[in-house]
This record gives sequence, C-alpha cells and structure tokens, in this order.
Amino acid sequence: MSQYFTRAPEISHLSDEQVEEIYERYLNGEKSAALVSEFNIPGNVHSLLRLLPPIISKDLTCPYCELPMWMRRYAKGTSASLRHPFKCVSCEHLHITSNHGRQRHCPCTECYKVRQREIAEQANRERLELEKRYATPSPPVPFASLSFVQKLVLLALLDDGSAASKDSIEPLDAPSRTEPLSPGDRFSKELVESLHEQGVLSVDVQSDIRAFDRTSGCLINNYFAVRWIPNVALEPGVCCARDELFTALYHELSANVQPVWKSELYALMFRLAREESLQYIHVLANEVSFVFSAQGSAKTVIGQLLQNFSVSHIYYFARLAVRNAAHFYATGNSKGRTHASNTIPRNMLRTSQDALVRNWRKTAYRDSRVPQSALQRLLYDVVLKDCGAGFAKSPGLYWRDELVPKFFPGAMDRDSPQGHLQLFCRECDSSNIDASMDKLTVITMCYDCATLSKFQAIEDFVD
Ligand SMILES: [Zn+2]
Ligand SMILES: [Zn+2]
Ligand SMILES: [Zn+2]
Repeated sequence: MSQYFTRAPEISHLSDEQVEEIYERYLNGEKSAALVSEFNIPGNVHSLLRLLPPIISKDLTCPYCELPMWMRRYAKGTSASLRHPFKCVSCEHLHITSNHGRQRHCPCTECYKVRQREIAEQANRERLELEKRYATPSPPVPFASLSFVQKLVLLALLDDGSAASKDSIEPLDAPSRTEPLSPGDRFSKELVESLHEQGVLSVDVQSDIRAFDRTSGCLINNYFAVRWIPNVALEPGVCCARDELFTALYHELSANVQPVWKSELYALMFRLAREESLQYIHVLANEVSFVFSAQGSAKTVIGQLLQNFSVSHIYYFARLAVRNAAHFYATGNSKGRTHASNTIPRNMLRTSQDALVRNWRKTAYRDSRVPQSALQRLLYDVVLKDCGAGFAKSPGLYWRDELVPKFFPGAMDRDSPQGHLQLFCRECDSSNIDASMDKLTVITMCYDCATLSKFQAIEDFVD
C-alpha cells in the first residue's frame, strides 16, 4: 500500500508484518520505549503511533472509486465509537458503521446523491401506491340521497377560503380555513371519515403524503391533512364540479327548513352545543392545570342542562364549577387534581338546579379559545337564520318554543305515524321520538331529552 502513503524513514527498515506486530503489541499494553528499542527505531521518538502508517482495510473498497480505504491508527484504549471511520484513499467517502457516534450518514457528495436518489424513488413509490389505492373513485353519490348533516358538512368543507378555481377541497388543517369544522376534533374527524366511507368525498391523490400511513398501503392516518374531491352527482352518474355543488348546497340549505331534516337538525343542534360546552370545560380546567377526565358524566350533565339552558349559561356554570374545583384542590381536602376536577360536572348540575328553582340566569361571553365552528355558523346563520342563537338560546327551549311551531307544526299532532308504533324513549319515557332502522338496528332519537338509543336485532341463524 506504499503507493498511497510514504512510510516514515525511521521505520523504513521494517516489513509490513513487523509494523503490524509493533502496533498489536502496543495495543496490548507494551511500553512504546521498549518497542522502539527492540525494533531499532532510530532518533528521539515522541510518539510511536505517529510513525506508524495508517491501517489499510483488507476488506473494504470505496464503492465509487474502487480504491482501498484507510484509517488513522487509534491510541490504545480508544473506544470503538471514537475511532475514525475508514476513508477512501482518493475521495471523501467514509465507511460509516452504526458505532460511529451519532453520525449515521457519510457526508461525502456521492453518498448524498445516492441518498437523494433513494428519497426521490421512495417518494415516487409512495405516490404510485397512493394513486393505486385512490385514483379510481366510486360512482358519484346522487345529491338527493345526501342527508341534511351530510349536506351541511359538505357546504362547510367547500367553504374553505381557497381560490374558487380549484376542484379539490382544502384539508381541515389548511391555513386558509379560519374556523374549525365542528367544536371538537373528534367530531370533525368522525364527520369527514363518514363522508369518505360513503363515497361522498374521494381522496385527492395530490394530498400531502404524510396524511397516509405508508407502511399499510396508504390508509389515511390523519383525516385533517387529506385533500378531498367532492364526489356528488347533480345529474345521474356525472360527478358535478365543485362550484355547482356549492351553489346547489347553499341554495337548498338557505331555503326553507325541510320536514325530513327534523331529527337530524335536533340531534346536530344538541351535539354542537354539547361539544362546545365540553371544549370550554377543557379550556378552563387547563388554565388551573387540571386534566379534565370526567368526560362521560360531563356529557350527560350538559345534555340535561341544554334542555333549559344555553351554551352561554353553561359557560357560566362551568366557570363557577372549575373555580370551586381549583379551590377544593388548593385547600388540600381533595385526593388530588383528578378527584378535584371530577367534581366539575356535579357542581354544574347543582348550580343549575338552584338557577331553575330560584329562577335566575347568568350568561358568559364566547371565549376565543373555543371559536365558533363552521357548522355552527352555517346552521344558525344560513339554515335557521338566527345568528347567535346557537350560543345564546337553550337548544331544548329553542326547539320546543320556536323551531317546532315554525318548521314542524305537524309534529304536535298526536296522530302522527310514530304514535301508532308506541315507541318511547329509553331515558325519559317520552313518546315524542323519531325512529329509523336498517336491517340490523333501530335507532331512536328523543325530542324531549336528546337521547339517542340504538337497538340491535338478534339474528336468526340459518342451519
Ligand atoms: Zn472513493
Ligand atoms: Zn460517502
Ligand atoms: Zn327522552
């Protein structure tokens, strides 16, 4: 290997084998001075290590130059991770193994190019995979078959703040969207996921690849980052353009409230108000460093409160309850933060009962940390044309006193078809309910307490 490294004159009398022997014995702990004199190395040697030529690897060759690779001799006791890696005699390529500290890539230009190529190929493969899975959308869903909530969600999705010329729908987390779809992320995901499952939304294959799980054939793992294409037919079998769909949706939803929307409208009003109230409790609990986990009882309590109180009233109860919980924790009488925060729903219920009995109401303002969602805005401004009612009016009272008389007067009729079925609410025994069924389940929704119940058929086994 002398063609690559000139040997120091002091050791020119030694063979390659002798050089290796000296190094071996040095590593094994023999004194340099003893080795210097034994092998007749002349002069005043300060560092035996400096004199020895670099190690040339017996096995490695540079993949780019096909030339040998060398390494500076390390001092005895140098741990493997601190040794210099083998380097090409000609180019900058290093042979990096996993034990070379934290650096896992060779920094040479050739390796960089290889890595870039691999990244590009990988991206290409993933894009093809995405196209394979999503490029052929299912047949478009007829506009007339969309439910009220589906239509409202679609309208909210299309209202994405982007340039009108686009065909696709901006992802939920796009910066051009100035409001969340619904008050809760989980609810928003549920809504979009169901539209996708029913073929109303197709995945735009130009979506950000990071929205998909690339290890599982590109299934969606982040519904908020997917770009969508609406897949709705205004004329049979033909997927309509985005702006046509927007116009059709807006036209229908801003016209008269339709009787068939009744149960969906009622359920959505309550769900939105409940989600918003829950979000606010989370925000307040966070402020006093509580992690609010009494989600289940809070949902029940809020559902109950919404029959008589508005979200604005509930905000007031929540503020009081969180303040009391924080005080309870601060006095040291609670068994910890969780225990203290678990008292919030009960406390809200207690205050609300007092408010009912003594007939007082206190309101609170909207909080910018729980911004109004697109669905709330469209539902109250466009469909019901009563801006602010979603926050300021109790959904229960609003429904009974204003919406039913105005939009569903027939529902007061005791001879309605549902009356003959003798169905009643599982929670409150009211027969003022709506029922829908498919082959396996019956779902009832109560107009007096907003309870949704699901009943499952027991299947007959065919032998
Ligand atoms: Zn090289
Ligand atoms: Zn390299
Ligand atoms: Zn009920």
